[in-house]
Amino acid sequence: MSEKFYITSPLYYVNDLPHIGSAYTTICCDCIARYKRLRKYDVCFLTGTDEHGQKIFKAAQAKNMLAQEHCDHISKKFEELWRLLNIHFDKFSRTTSKNHEKIVEDFFNRVYKNGDIYEANYEGLYCEACEDFKAEKDLLEGLICPIHKQKAQDYKEKNYFFALSKYQDKLVKYFDENPDFIQPSFRKNEVLGWIKEGLKDFPISRRSVSWGIPLPCDKTQTIYVWFDALVGYLSGLLNENEEVKLDTTLQNYWPCNVHIIGKDILRFHAVYWPCMLMSAQLPLPKKVFGHGFLTKDGEKMGKTTGNIIDPYELINEFGTDAVRFYFLREMCFGKDGDYTKESFINRVNSDLANNLGNLLNRTINLVHKNFNGIVENTNSNFLELKEKMEITIKEYENHMEKLELKEATDIVWQLIGNTNKAFNDKEPWKLIKNNDLTKAKYCLYETLEVLRNLSILIYPFIPETSLKIYYQLGLNTLDSNNEWDKLGFEKVNACFKVREASIIFPRLDTKSIKI
Ligand SMILES: [Zn+2]
Repeated sequence: MSEKFYITSPLYYVNDLPHIGSAYTTICCDCIARYKRLRKYDVCFLTGTDEHGQKIFKAAQAKNMLAQEHCDHISKKFEELWRLLNIHFDKFSRTTSKNHEKIVEDFFNRVYKNGDIYEANYEGLYCEACEDFKAEKDLLEGLICPIHKQKAQDYKEKNYFFALSKYQDKLVKYFDENPDFIQPSFRKNEVLGWIKEGLKDFPISRRSVSWGIPLPCDKTQTIYVWFDALVGYLSGLLNENEEVKLDTTLQNYWPCNVHIIGKDILRFHAVYWPCMLMSAQLPLPKKVFGHGFLTKDGEKMGKTTGNIIDPYELINEFGTDAVRFYFLREMCFGKDGDYTKESFINRVNSDLANNLGNLLNRTINLVHKNFNGIVENTNSNFLELKEKMEITIKEYENHMEKLELKEATDIVWQLIGNTNKAFNDKEPWKLIKNNDLTKAKYCLYETLEVLRNLSILIYPFIPETSLKIYYQLGLNTLDSNNEWDKLGFEKVNACFKVREASIIFPRLDTKSIKI
């Protein structure tokens, strides 16, 4: 049996249609999951939707819909967008599913039995948009939430609390024993800062919220949306026809290898969730990776300012792989990143159309024109490209294991640059003209062999393009579970019989771009 690898995106909140930020996170998850499949891991990539809470209830009301209808509609939209973006997920977890409700009850009961849930009065400030409590010092003047720019409400209720403070020391110990738990490492200090201020018990039930899972010990209240949603990482692991029990989910892929999230929900994943799991006496996830935010033209994106990127528009205009490529190649995964139309067009034109696309096209055309589409290896003494290829594979692996996605593409595009240079220096078209066919064939064979390797390395990033290159090289379909072993020179072919050349990425013309 191959080793398991469990990766999750957040469960996205269905108060509104999916936006570019959710698309970005999910593209990154998909890239990592595809890489792990190449490495023969038994991968489970879970995504899904978080569907309870007052904000969702109100969003449904505003549209004259039942809450469940609204959730079904928006959840479907997420799934559709993931299919458009060629996201290969294995599980789609929904927090309004019956199975989820049962698993949350199991989870709650474990925490309850452990003595970590108690009733008390809560008085404080609450941002309804965050669905979270706020300390006055974290709010702007006039008690305004800095994220949502709306006033935090006075909140007073008799609720059930989770004894978070009890786990403070254990959590610090866990961080010490697992120094890579919070990634990128610069986010760890932020979390340690929160812990230093002292972890406070927090209410995990709401009397005033009807759209939620009833609290098992008091049905007049519902479970707090975060306490419910995080358990979705477990409940979503159930297979069809399996017994709906927490124990069953644990046998499938738990513990999670990495939760990929945006930095805004780091506290829930790096503090609340591990403590909840400790209380339920369950294994903790191995890693939480909090990536940065996207801006557009240097400005924060927001509906009110109209400064947004519509993922559907981007895909319609540029195609799935161009969109995936841009965000993976341009943004440094983990840090904040900025989108501009100019940088998008530059990336596609220079990296995809010119450097990669032209190399493929020129090589295949020469092979057809001069050698009936067939070149065999005419020299077993490979030159510098073989060595460069081997270094590239090693460094690529290194970066991918550390989730340095952009750095992995840097290495790959360096190799593409080197291969273009070698091709131009050797001038195979001149060699053919001078009837130096052995040398010409050797140059073409070498280039095709690099392209074959490249198509494997770019597969996690731009899978459709990768398959197109594979096809043009005359190879059969890339098998994502078996292809890593074929990396390296002369691992497969002593001869290429290429198919017809076709352009994989036409150059984008700034003037004809509508958005
Ligand atoms: Zn807020």
